Amino acid sequence: MVSSSFRVTLLKLGLPENRLVVLEGKGGVVEGEFEGIRYVRFRDSARGFRRGTVVFENGDVVLGFPHIKRVVQLERGIKRVFKNKPFYVEEKVDGYNVRVVKVKDRVLALTRGGFVCPFTTERILDFINEEFFKDYPNLVLAGEMAGPESPYIVEGPPYVKEDIEFFLFDIQEKGTGRSLPVGERYKLAEEYGIRHVETFGLYDRSKIEELHELIERLSRERREGIVMKTPDMKRIAKYVTPYANINDIKIGSHIFFDLPHGYFMGRIKRLAFYLAERHIKGEEFDEYAKALGKALLRPFVESIHEVANGGEVEEVFTVRVKNISTAHRMVTHFERLGVKIHIEDIEDLGNGYWRITFKRVYPDATREMRELWNGRAF
Ligand code: ATP
Repeated sequence: MVSSSFRVTLLKLGLPENRLVVLEGKGGVVEGEFEGIRYVRFRDSARGFRRGTVVFENGDVVLGFPHIKRVVQLERGIKRVFKNKPFYVEEKVDGYNVRVVKVKDRVLALTRGGFVCPFTTERILDFINEEFFKDYPNLVLAGEMAGPESPYIVEGPPYVKEDIEFFLFDIQEKGTGRSLPVGERYKLAEEYGIRHVETFGLYDRSKIEELHELIERLSRERREGIVMKTPDMKRIAKYVTPYANINDIKIGSHIFFDLPHGYFMGRIKRLAFYLAERHIKGEEFDEYAKALGKALLRPFVESIHEVANGGEVEEVFTVRVKNISTAHRMVTHFERLGVKIHIEDIEDLGNGYWRITFKRVYPDATREMRELWNGRAF
């Protein structure tokens, strides 16, 4: 149940009472709290409140970050999505999505699901100049947190060598969720010194060969892909490199039983469309086939051996925090997500930061493998 003060706020914002009651009934709106700041997050979408929308006590609304359509046949995809219109091409940075917003006097980082993330919130002002929010309290900075020391993602992009960084890719208005035009965003990023995802300039359908070359280069450089956006941000589409498809499979197959089959199928499909569109043949085709097979099988087989030898399927990750209490809050935060992690190690880096090592165990995947290894018939 949502408390009465929030009911009033939500009704005032235009959510019909009967819709609210249904949502509450199925846990579609949930109340949360972060250091005395109360909020509700939408687990489902309802009447203009996209999934992941957060409403604060003072009536501030941060809409959920919208889904971006994916194309798997690049040439035909851009023709369908953009027709003859030009579009900006930006790097798709591999990390986790955050929306950064100032509510009352606090700058908060929201996850895709609409939680205030204790880790990202503690670190965010290391990357974003707070002046921005003094000048634009009504804007939301959406970006990717990426790097090797991340609580949600196993690997980061190759050019973030340590820790984690913020990469801006969208600026939206509170309340409406409307995006600023690309040009304005580039200007603000520059003006306030906010690191932006790499931009590759304006393209259109006629530049398809250059776009293919860009994808090939990004793939060689172990980067995830591109996001294409019309200058007014009305049409957006993403395309992922063959490298990222295979690498995701490699990361996922380690915890094979914990992921839906669609995780693997989707990536195999995207790779197949890449190979078909680029007419990859002969030795190059064989290399992709081998890389895919290895990505799918090697970490999976290694996990089986681990469990067969009495171990567990697990992942270890580190993050840098300013206060050890933030690490404990992350444990609680993951618990709310239904995930069990524990702190393995705390190291004083001597520069005001602590490096925390967490371990995440996958009990379901471990159990499943153990039973199959022990001969369960099915
Ligand atoms: P979606 O919700 O779009 O269906 P998803 O949650 O599975 O997809 P991805 O397929 O990884 O996510 O792609 C979308 C995400 O890519 C965005 O939510 C954003 O976090 C991230 N991203 C990285 N770089 C960019 C960029 N330049 N522009 C937009 N999004 C970007």
